[in-house]
Amino acid sequence: MSVPARYRRVLLKISGEALMGDQEYGLDPGMLAHVAGEIQSVHALDVQICLVIGGGNIFRGVKGAAAGMERATADYMGMLATVINSLAMQSALERRGIVTRVLSAITMQAVCEPYIRRRAIRHMEKGRVVVFAAGTGNPFFTTDTAAALRASEMGCDALLKATKVDGVYSADPQKVAGAERFKRLSYLDVLSRDLQVMDASAISLARENRIPILVFSIHNPGGFADVVSGKGLFTIISEES
Ligand code: UDP
Repeated sequence: MSVPARYRRVLLKISGEALMGDQEYGLDPGMLAHVAGEIQSVHALDVQICLVIGGGNIFRGVKGAAAGMERATADYMGMLATVINSLAMQSALERRGIVTRVLSAITMQAVCEPYIRRRAIRHMEKGRVVVFAAGTGNPFFTTDTAAALRASEMGCDALLKATKVDGVYSADPQKVAGAERFKRLSYLDVLSRDLQVMDASAISLARENRIPILVFSIHNPGGFADVVSGKGLFTIISEES
């Protein structure tokens, strides 16, 4: 029997790297289909869903800057990478019959809609999944910050951060044996212990707007629906730890 969802509207943040699957670069169709399936399960619970997708599987601004490129230009390239990923996700969702709209922070008329806050809310109210592309539209930011910003603007009840592991650990559990797994953390814990969950500006923005962050594994089948229903394994970051 399915458990009713705890949240009315959520934002899912997925990194570009998560969409690479086992590849070194780019998009893995199998992984895209898996994530689309996870989203479909939550959509079936009558939860309004919006997404922010990273671009690290294609291009990261800091890498371009390190190679001698102007940082702002490299960041714009990173933002364009998120648009590619967003279109791929739209296609994977629509193959499953889920009506999806991509809204870009950088206007790209022929490709997708421009980001308009009220329009995004309206799409979700109509049961459409909304994908926010091009991050914040500004260089020197990350898609984590874009996720916290859009979750705040959309009045989301929670920000779900999909990762490779089932929560926040004291150290990388894939590298450090015996790393401690946290069930609950406060925003301040994450900031003061410098836990590598999301960057500090994303955590601060979520804190200011009282949006809980739930960190979970996107690889567990049914994991997204479980977290939205308060089941399964995840770390919750909120005001009290
Ligand atoms: N980016 C940016 N402004 C934003 C969001 C992203 O300039 O608001 C650029 C930045 O260069 C970043 C790249 O887009 O490296 C890809 O995003 P991110 O690294 O956050 O992707 P992820 O790690 O989630 O795959």
